[in-house]
Amino acid sequence: MAYDSDYRLADAKAKPIKDVSDLLGISGLKRAGREWTGPCPGIGCGGRDRFSLNAAKNLFNCRICGAKGDQVHLVMFVRGVEFKAALDWLCGPKAELTPAERAEMDRRAEENRARQARDAAKYRADAIAAAREIWLASVPAEDTPVRDYLALRGIPRERYPALPNCLRFHPACRYMVKGQTGWREVHCGPAMIASIQAADGKGTAVHRTWIDLSQPKGKALITDPLTGEVLKSKKTLGAKKGGAIRLSGPWARSETMVMGEGIETTLSALAAGVPAGAVYWCGIDLGNISGARIMGQGKKYAGIPDMTDAEAFVPPEWVRDLILIQDGDSEPKSTHAKLLSGARRAMARRPGLSARIVPVPEGQDLNDVLMGASDA
Ligand SMILES: [Zn+2]
Repeated sequence: MAYDSDYRLADAKAKPIKDVSDLLGISGLKRAGREWTGPCPGIGCGGRDRFSLNAAKNLFNCRICGAKGDQVHLVMFVRGVEFKAALDWLCGPKAELTPAERAEMDRRAEENRARQARDAAKYRADAIAAAREIWLASVPAEDTPVRDYLALRGIPRERYPALPNCLRFHPACRYMVKGQTGWREVHCGPAMIASIQAADGKGTAVHRTWIDLSQPKGKALITDPLTGEVLKSKKTLGAKKGGAIRLSGPWARSETMVMGEGIETTLSALAAGVPAGAVYWCGIDLGNISGARIMGQGKKYAGIPDMTDAEAFVPPEWVRDLILIQDGDSEPKSTHAKLLSGARRAMARRPGLSARIVPVPEGQDLNDVLMGASDA
C-alpha cells in the first residue's frame, strides 16, 4: 500500500507528535523551545540527548541511529510494526467510507495542512522579529568588549583590523530558557551578537555569545538556577537554516571560501591569513553546514546529502573553492560525515566548485594545516 493512500493518515498527521510520543510512553524528554530532546527509545540506542521531537514540524529524529519521520513512523519505530498496524494503533481500524465521508476526510486533511503551514509561517516570522529586536538593541562591535573577547580567543586587533558589520555588542542581553511553565530569564549580561544572513543577504537570525572577560576564554559561565544545569554560552534565535555569519568579504575577485562551525574557529583561520584572498564565513553549526542527510543502515557516517532539502546551505555562485574546517575537539567520525555532506551538496549544486575538508587536530597550528590543505 502506498504511504498516503490510507485516509487515516490525515488524522494521524493532525496529532501533535509530542502527544503520540506520550501515548507511546517515551519518557525523559526535556523541552527547549519547540524541540524535545532525550534518550532514544530505539532498542539498544538510548543515550542522553540524541533523540528529538520537533513540535513545529511534527517530526522526530535520532542523530545516532538515524531513525526519523512523522507521527506514523514514530509508532512504527517504537512498536516495531508495519505502516498499517501503526495506523490501527494510532487511529483505530479502517472503516469503509461513503464518497461523502471520503470527501469530508479530504477536506479536513487539507484544512489541517493549511493550518500547520500557517502555524509554521507565524512561528518563523515571530522568531525573525525577535532576532531583529536583539539586533537593533545592540551596537557596532568595534571598541566594545567584543574586541577584548576576540583577543582572549586568540584573534588580536592587528590580525583583524576592522570588525565586520555582522558583529555587534549587546550590553545586557537576556538569556531565556523555556521550561514547562513558559520562558524564564536565567542570565542577563554582555554578549557578542552575530547576524545570520540568508542566501539573499537578509538577516533572519542572530547568534549570541554571552561574554565574561574575567573568564580565561572570555565566555560567561551560565547555570540554570532552577535545575543547576550548566548551559551553553551560545544560542541562536530566528530562522538560521541555510544561512551563515559573513565574517569577511566577499571581495571583488574572491573565489575561495573558508567555513568553520564556530565564529572563533573561522576567525582563527582568518587571523592565520591563509589562503590569501579567501572569504571567511561561519556555518553556525554542523547540522547547518551538512543540511539533511540520507540516513539508514550503514549510512550514518557515509555523508550523503539529501538533495531534497531545499533550505540547506549552498555557497554563493562565485565560490570555486570551498574549504570546510574540521574542528579537532569534536567527535571526528560524525563531524566528518556532516562536513562531507555539505561538501558534496556544494559540488552538486555548483558545478565547477571543488570542496575540501581540512582537519585541524587539537593543539595544531591552523596556519600550518591550511597551508598544507589537501583534497578530501
Ligand atoms: Zn536512536
